[in-house]
Amino acid sequence: MQSRVLLVSNRLPVTLTNGEGGLQVHPSSGGLATALASVHDAGDSLWFGWPGLVEGVPEAEVARALVPHRAVPIHITPAEVKAYYDGYCNGVLWPLSHYLLEKVRFDDVDDWPAYHAVNERFADAVASHWRPGDLIWVHDYHLTLLPSMLRYRCPGARIGFFLHVPFPGPEVFRILPRRNEVLRGMIGADVVGFHTAGFAYSFAYACSQLLGLELSGDVLSDSGRPVRVASFPIGIDADAFATRAATPEVRTRVEALRADSQGRKLLLSVDRFDYTKGHVRRILAFERMLKLRPELKDQLHIIQLVVPTREQVGAYADYRAEVNELVGRINGAFGSPTRTLLHLLHRAVEPDELSALYVAADVMLVTPLRDGMNLVAKEYVASRVDDDGVLVLSEFAGAATELHEALQINPYDLDAFAWAIMRAIEMPPYEQRLRMSGLRKTVHSAPVAQWAKSFLDALEQSPTETATSPSVALEQAMAIVMNAPRLLLVLDYDGTLVDFAPSPRTATPDKALLELLRRLSARAGTSVHVVSGRSRDSLEAFLGELDLGLHAEHGLWSRFERRAEWRSRRPLPPSWLDPVRSSMARVVQRTDGALLEEKSGALAFHYRATEPQLARRRLEELRAVLAADPQAGEFEVLEGSRVLEVRLRGVNKGAVLPEILASAPGATVVPLGDDRADEALFAALPPGAVGVHVGTGQSAARYRVSGVGAARALLKRIVDSGPSTPSMTSLAAPPTIGR
Ligand code: UDP
Repeated sequence: MQSRVLLVSNRLPVTLTNGEGGLQVHPSSGGLATALASVHDAGDSLWFGWPGLVEGVPEAEVARALVPHRAVPIHITPAEVKAYYDGYCNGVLWPLSHYLLEKVRFDDVDDWPAYHAVNERFADAVASHWRPGDLIWVHDYHLTLLPSMLRYRCPGARIGFFLHVPFPGPEVFRILPRRNEVLRGMIGADVVGFHTAGFAYSFAYACSQLLGLELSGDVLSDSGRPVRVASFPIGIDADAFATRAATPEVRTRVEALRADSQGRKLLLSVDRFDYTKGHVRRILAFERMLKLRPELKDQLHIIQLVVPTREQVGAYADYRAEVNELVGRINGAFGSPTRTLLHLLHRAVEPDELSALYVAADVMLVTPLRDGMNLVAKEYVASRVDDDGVLVLSEFAGAATELHEALQINPYDLDAFAWAIMRAIEMPPYEQRLRMSGLRKTVHSAPVAQWAKSFLDALEQSPTETATSPSVALEQAMAIVMNAPRLLLVLDYDGTLVDFAPSPRTATPDKALLELLRRLSARAGTSVHVVSGRSRDSLEAFLGELDLGLHAEHGLWSRFERRAEWRSRRPLPPSWLDPVRSSMARVVQRTDGALLEEKSGALAFHYRATEPQLARRRLEELRAVLAADPQAGEFEVLEGSRVLEVRLRGVNKGAVLPEILASAPGATVVPLGDDRADEALFAALPPGAVGVHVGTGQSAARYRVSGVGAARALLKRIVDSGPSTPSMTSLAAPPTIGR
């Protein structure tokens, strides 16, 4: 790998503190620094992130202290730590991705703006260092908006995004109020990576359901721009754990731990004190087991190492209290005045102490309710150099997809959980060996450096945006547009002026949009046309009262003036409509979530809400039926954003453009569109037109803006730049159109 890498994560691999001895640099806790060490230590990289709160130290001094570490600080204010980090990251995204919906705080109004603002700050900093040829690799749920923000700032950049937490099932993800913004942020990347194929699939499904993106193999199409979605399970430095496990220092500590246990079996767990880690269910499983087999209480020594974490987040304090109370209950019921059965060690430990615990533990319990991967499970395995010990592992940890020889449990099924612990305690040595040797092989076969390399290789191999990709440098063009004596705006509706809605009927224009269009059409010298795939009825109902030219069904129907009669370009209905409708209706009936939209010269099969694999099967079927239709030469099949449309051959947005142009001679033409159907329009533009693609996809348009909000902002700038004429009647009558 040759390229320079810009690594971006919420925390830097080093943390700064301002103490008596001045500014001090310490390694940060957490696995990411270790995971990316092979990349960062290799030399040609920069790492962007938060250095911690270093109040009272000038920013320039902080930046200077970080130079030797090739780290670039992104400062976050104490108020932002509360709203961005504790609030949106750890109060919303963290519990949601771990399926703990009752813990999600939905109503804090400051959280989202702070999250957005911090992502913007990261984007500005990364963009200011980016050089063509650099790879950008963004990490985790703190920075989901960053990939798209960077795509606008660094056109042609190769951008990777890795999510270290689970991506929840689409029905859970759908609960998130800002779900579309988060998805759009992530798909700005060229490669989006997850720890498991399941998370990757859930993400692809959510993108198809909520954004209407197509998935083919492991590639999502963002209006033609490929976004690879794949799993890259993270590994550990297994050799380092194996080596440390055998050092004399660790062996001495192991002896001490064994002496403490006095011949009892040691049951261990090591987790951050986080409600996703399943302490409560685990303690309840101990209780269930001890009720079933009370004699075990004298044979066991249980240590739960709970590493302090996120102590400022409210939900964590409640959780700690709940766990402490349960521990008291168990020790009260099964311990004795002279012996504590379950020890809760509330602190972090040094690497040697951790290794000693791993080596001494007869049974390791890694039983989170959900986990992106869980490195502790792999570290325990790597430390078992004698092939003994038993790993009890939650099937809801990402690691479960790789560690097949563990005793896997569902932490919600207390009986099975309790029985699995008993089985682990009593597992004969030959079975321990059989399982542990298989696990060790797995853990050693995928070292952490390989994880980073395989992701960066995938990123390096991703196709770059072509020279014809739309540019974000709109300013010069905007100056021409705003000063043009005559302006012709040709606007798509869905995905350009309004966001997609689950059903075409529900994407109604809001008041702000109606007002914007009204003012645009009243602007001096300005004609506005909306060209949409929608039916006449829906355009009329949504926009009929405005002074706009309206063109329905991709230009099959036109109404050049308010209250004018709609005219069609072709004789209707076409003879193929009835038989094709029957074929399509049969498919729709058998496809959950699909619906058939009927227009006068077209039929559309919408499958946005359909499970993607089912949709793929039904589409294959439908394409075959349509290809075999005796009148197939009369219609064409157009596939767009989660819609397959059958329509009259030769009717498209490009075909209606000459008539629209003729209605405003000499005008500067500004078309805006987001979809494949708009490409016919961009392809037919006269020279000098300022075509604007809405979104991050590929397009023949010369320029792009990020989404509906940005498209509206652009139109608003045009409105504000010109004097308005209250009675604007310059929409010319249509040239000759057949009925
Ligand atoms: N760990 C640590 N300090 C400790 C105990 C554990 O830094 O006192 C490490 C542990 O070795 C592991 C990481 O914390 O590498 C926990 O990673 P995991 O994936 O298991 O869970 P996460 O905390 O990332 O949710």
